[in-house]
Amino acid sequence: MPLSNRRTLTQYLIEQRRRFPGASGALNALVLDVALATKAIARAVSFGELGDPMSAQLIDASKSHAPVVNVQGEVQKALDVVSNEIFLRTTEWAGHLAGMGSEEMESPYQVPAQYRRGGYLLVFDPLDGSSNIDVNVSVGSIFSILRAPQEVIDSGRDVTEADFLQPGTAQVAAGYAIYGPATMLVLTVGDGVVGFTLDHNLGEFKLTHPDIRVPADTQEFAINSSNSRFWESPVKRYVDECLAGKTGPRGKDFNMRWIASLVAEAHRILMRGGVFMYPRDTKDPSKPGRLRLLYEANPIGFVMEQAGGRASTGREPVLAVPPAGLHQRIGLVFGSKNEVERIERYHAEAEAGTDKPYVSPLFNERSLYRPEARV
Ligand code: MN
Ligand code: MN
Repeated sequence: MPLSNRRTLTQYLIEQRRRFPGASGALNALVLDVALATKAIARAVSFGELGDPMSAQLIDASKSHAPVVNVQGEVQKALDVVSNEIFLRTTEWAGHLAGMGSEEMESPYQVPAQYRRGGYLLVFDPLDGSSNIDVNVSVGSIFSILRAPQEVIDSGRDVTEADFLQPGTAQVAAGYAIYGPATMLVLTVGDGVVGFTLDHNLGEFKLTHPDIRVPADTQEFAINSSNSRFWESPVKRYVDECLAGKTGPRGKDFNMRWIASLVAEAHRILMRGGVFMYPRDTKDPSKPGRLRLLYEANPIGFVMEQAGGRASTGREPVLAVPPAGLHQRIGLVFGSKNEVERIERYHAEAEAGTDKPYVSPLFNERSLYRPEARV
């Protein structure tokens, strides 16, 4: 396709806005600012071990000294700090936001007094999968846009954590950028899912994936099996059945993938199907799941559902969960619809006591493999 036939992100957003003749254009402008942030982060991460001179300036300007321990108790990498600063600086000034929430900031971020405040809330994971930075594996940024409560807009007051505690169904737009061999922006504004690829010559996101759909069926699953001894019985049942392949109740062989980068897993599933599980488990009873509801599970869930896939806690649609905290964690299962529904059914059957966990001669339900297995 000739270059001129590919729409830019700006053109796509203008076309979307025509669906809402009264729209102010603020949402479009905000999405473009987020896209600008992802371009800057793509550039910063591409320097790798060389380090990006512009990033060093940003860290100095922010007066933060990496590495420090962030609110999640993880050691923040310099690039986490840089990416957070880039998100704040590129989106705070334009008058579209009432406030922001970030993985890297314990409390909501207030729009500085010198800028106008607007009608939206932006929540983000500025650099997802950042432990993959050192090994040069794909990382990304995840974002979710909510409407600020009307009373916040009317009063112009500072935002509080409670203002952000809206279910995923309330999202106006969401998406992610993936910094892989190519930089891509994947977006939903509630009208399907589209993917843009960064054209480095023009510095523009060009529409390369105009209608992303997740196939309903798959033979590929992704889970961190080092946690298998902590899994709940429905998850063990599902994985054991996949591993049993042609010889088991599923009657077909499965492949397994695990990148340990949520954005990269979500992207693979959007491109070719699959199911991803980071379910609630018994490893740390204080954490009902690993991933964060507001800036990981909800935006990825919105994208999946808009692409015809499904996103669930295993027990209920993740987008229906009323959040209890800005940094709340949750169990997450998403991807090809029929597989996610099957996993939900296994949870329901386990709760009702009607499940029959699959026991093969090769695998047992306690550990992945029977020690005495002979074939
Ligand atoms: Mn993350
Ligand atoms: Mn992160």
